[in-house]
Amino acid sequence: MLRRLIIRFFPTLASRFEKDSREWMIQCQKCDHEISVWDAGGIRYKARGTVRRLGKCSSCGKTSMLRIYRPDKPADPDAP
Ligand SMILES: [Zn+2]
Repeated sequence: MLRRLIIRFFPTLASRFEKDSREWMIQCQKCDHEISVWDAGGIRYKARGTVRRLGKCSSCGKTSMLRIYRPDKPADPDAP
């Protein structure tokens, strides 16, 4: 998988990808199951907006419209 190659050869880049990808959630429209893009094995980096994509839900196993979005989060306390 591409992600494994990135982690292996570009660890600094990978950690940035991971941070961004963990902020994005994939929600199944059938069972409301949510998983982060990273945990689902994907990468989403420097992206905006909400995307809908047809895919297989890892929870109910059905092919469903998956909503990929970044939940609103409070301001990062570590931000400068
Ligand atoms: Zn589901």
